[in-house]
Amino acid sequence: MTTLIITHPACIDHDPGSGHPEAPARLKAVLGGLERWEAETAVPGAITWVEAPKAERDTLILVHGAEHVDRVLQAVPQSGTAYLDPDTGLSPATGNAARRAAGAVTAAVDAVLGGAARNAFAAVRPPGHHAEPNRAMGFCLFNNVAIGALHARKKHGLGRIAVVDFDVHHGNGTEAAFRDDDGLFFASSHQFPHYPGTGSGRHDSDHILNAPLAPGSGSAEFRAAWGERLLPALEQFAPELILISAGFDAHRKDPLADINLVEADFAWVTGEIRAIAESRCAGRLVSTLEGGYDLDALAASAVAHVEALARQ
Ligand SMILES: [Zn+2]
Repeated sequence: MTTLIITHPACIDHDPGSGHPEAPARLKAVLGGLERWEAETAVPGAITWVEAPKAERDTLILVHGAEHVDRVLQAVPQSGTAYLDPDTGLSPATGNAARRAAGAVTAAVDAVLGGAARNAFAAVRPPGHHAEPNRAMGFCLFNNVAIGALHARKKHGLGRIAVVDFDVHHGNGTEAAFRDDDGLFFASSHQFPHYPGTGSGRHDSDHILNAPLAPGSGSAEFRAAWGERLLPALEQFAPELILISAGFDAHRKDPLADINLVEADFAWVTGEIRAIAESRCAGRLVSTLEGGYDLDALAASAVAHVEALARQ
């Protein structure tokens, strides 16, 4: 069985503005790293590359209000940059990229649930986990991972779906989409206090779990949060599918945060999540790229993540 890598050239073309950290070079670095790893190290057939389809409007509105979807797509400029907020810019390629990013996750869900792949990684941008049902923010337009979860419920009839999020920022959009539905589980580790300011853990429930990490935390604090609290809760939830918001901006080299992880930490948490997927839900695991802003650290971390997904 193979690990699907699903991406699209439009996701490189999306440009949120000159000098923006969420730059096209991010995805080029990730894809370049994966191509080198496949050529030099991977077992032949360990990964399979697929082109992401465009998500339809009906799929986007599984999570978002129709007005939000239309507002985002109508804001896409003919030239230059349009801004939905000071952080969140759109270029002419953005509409296509945003629909491909969501479509990558839903197609990955279809492939994994249909048995065509062991698991999958959507190498896409714009990222999604800050996008709330009715608000784009923090470089995010549509919440790709939440759309994947709701698609799994609608198309495949799954009842219990989990999203785990190790991006250094709190996945406020995913939490907002899942908060009132106890068939949807969300667990996140993130720097706190930090952008976007949510995720303190004070409003957690049995299906919403936040592990705030103090600035300066590293491997020990990260592994304790996941090992002692978030992973046992994930296992206890007994998901039928697990999705990952895979942000790599908790890396020690990342310029946007102050957590000190290394590639081995991302490999470790991926392996632990995969083990729960294999014991609880026949290995059904779909990951999607969120943040990560140091190009070398991002590429190396994404390779470590996919290596852990694809290990035979
Ligand atoms: Zn982030």
